Amino acid sequence: MDVIRTPDEMRAWTRGRRESARRVGLVPTMGALHDGHASLISRSTEADDATVVSVFVNPTQFNRQTDFDLYPRTEADDFAMCDCLGVDAVYAPSAEVMYPSGSSTIIDPGPLAHVLEGASRAGHFAGVATVVVKLLMAVEPDVAYFGEKDLQQVAVVTRVVSDLDLAVTISAQPTVRETDGLAMSSRNVRLTAQDRAAATCIPHALSAVRDAVKDGNTDVTALRAMMHQILRSEPRCTVDYAEIVDRHSFTPVDTVDDAAAACIAAWFGDVRLIDNLVLSNWTGV
Ligand code: AMP
Repeated sequence: MDVIRTPDEMRAWTRGRRESARRVGLVPTMGALHDGHASLISRSTEADDATVVSVFVNPTQFNRQTDFDLYPRTEADDFAMCDCLGVDAVYAPSAEVMYPSGSSTIIDPGPLAHVLEGASRAGHFAGVATVVVKLLMAVEPDVAYFGEKDLQQVAVVTRVVSDLDLAVTISAQPTVRETDGLAMSSRNVRLTAQDRAAATCIPHALSAVRDAVKDGNTDVTALRAMMHQILRSEPRCTVDYAEIVDRHSFTPVDTVDDAAAACIAAWFGDVRLIDNLVLSNWTGV
């Protein structure tokens, strides 16, 4: 497995393999890899001729400095996991390489970036869009894999790729969960034992809404209230949002249809977790 640190070397690596690697897959990550990342990586190693994993904790998508500072960084373990999974190259540029002094271009994905998660985290999706485009330009993959755990991120990246005519397919993959339903996340290691136990209220709230919809309840006000009630009954949980939205626009829906998704962001101590469920998908949490 090759470890690559600059965009020029990354581009040369992909171009040098083009004859044998007709389909190159990219899995963008911020490291601290877990089984959720592993499932995206395996999807690529199964389907693609070459797999690249990027590992970069992107400062421009953090709206709180402490969240960036405390974000887990486990580079040696990440590289070992990638190697075990059959990854061909890891692209791990430094912040100085990605954002050298004087760099100032930011991609604004438009309205989608300013609602729900974007409303809670000003500038977050502009940071995501900018770094994803930079990674795509360096790696030049045919397919890039993203997790549905970050459902709005998938929508933003799909929008940006379409708007900028980028020649890459965005592949969205299902959320991998712990046995008690909590979505795997690099931030989970920062939870105290009590907060880790309390955080299962998120998948409980999502599955309760999913089950209610399955039983024919499509009253959005009642479903939303049900989510809030379950989350509020856990004293360690501070809700940021718990909404039912259209999975394409991420604006509130009046009635539940196939495009409706329940989306939750909540704090446990100083750790903010997000999760979601597309309500027509009965196999989620
Ligand atoms: P991150 O390192 O948190 O930026 O995540 C990198 C990619 O892995 C993103 O596309 C995430 O949506 C995806 N991802 C994170 N957690 C999970 C999970 N539990 N299941 C599936 N994909 C995930």
